Amino acid sequence: MVRKIAIYGKGGIGKSTTTQNTASAMAHFHDKKVMIHGCDPKADSTRMILRGKMQRTMMDTLREEGEEACMDLDNIMSVGYEGIKCVESGGPEPGVGCAGRGVITAITIMEQKKVYEDDLDFVFFDVLGDVVCGGFAMPIRDGKAEEIYVVASGEMMALYAANNLCKGMVKYAEQSGVRLGGIICNSRNVDGEKELLEEFCKRIGTQLIYFVPRDNIVQKAEFNKKTVVDFDETCNQANEYQELAKKIIENDNFVIPDPMTMEEMEELVVKYGVLD
Ligand code: ADP
Ligand code: MG
Repeated sequence: MVRKIAIYGKGGIGKSTTTQNTASAMAHFHDKKVMIHGCDPKADSTRMILRGKMQRTMMDTLREEGEEACMDLDNIMSVGYEGIKCVESGGPEPGVGCAGRGVITAITIMEQKKVYEDDLDFVFFDVLGDVVCGGFAMPIRDGKAEEIYVVASGEMMALYAANNLCKGMVKYAEQSGVRLGGIICNSRNVDGEKELLEEFCKRIGTQLIYFVPRDNIVQKAEFNKKTVVDFDETCNQANEYQELAKKIIENDNFVIPDPMTMEEMEELVVKYGVLD
């Protein structure tokens, strides 16, 4: 059975980086069959897997060539590093229409084509920000994803985003069956970060599933249009992603989170002296 995983978190926190590296590690070190479905209008969820190739988005294909073209998987899906399948939902023309709409359309088409059932172990949805409205909530609301991981760090806005996402989950978890599998800390090297994240996780009833260190090799690999695992499988950071992948593969801690109130969040932030 394929496991459908959605990755959420504040913009710029490292969702796409973490998703692509974890997917690479799953495929390369753990021999899993993986797909990434990018659900961010930025459409950069699969670029490293495709070694720099910009995947034509489903929304662009739909607009420019029509529905027929969109139903042909050759037009909308590419295969990259270690056989990882890649799709990008894309978005509307800037300033026009609801960006979340593209996610709904794209997931619906993928389901019609039975892509998610197709000989896969894991599908990752890399979803825009912490937006739990409209199409961006779809992976949570309609049970399109069964497991959620939130990427966060020891910064206030990242924690607020994670907490908000949990509020969104609470609303839909009962009906959709979606569960939180944990928080992934993508470190910003701030003081007391691990302790803060561990306490945050405890308070909302989940686990800190992994602490990913900050490492310049991520940028170096990116410059070479590769994931870290693809760029240098022997480096320390590749090993970190291998461990994170293992944690996710072996995870059995799935909860409906219990989000914190604004007052509690503020207390926590003060306790740890979190600034921006
Ligand atoms: P998001 O998808 O959440 O918007 P990205 O994955 O695009 O964020 O990450 C933003 C940038 O942060 C990336 O360009 C990447 O270079 C950098 N980055 C992410 N994770 C790490 C890390 N663990 N170490 C160093 N740099 C990182
Ligand atoms: Mg991204």
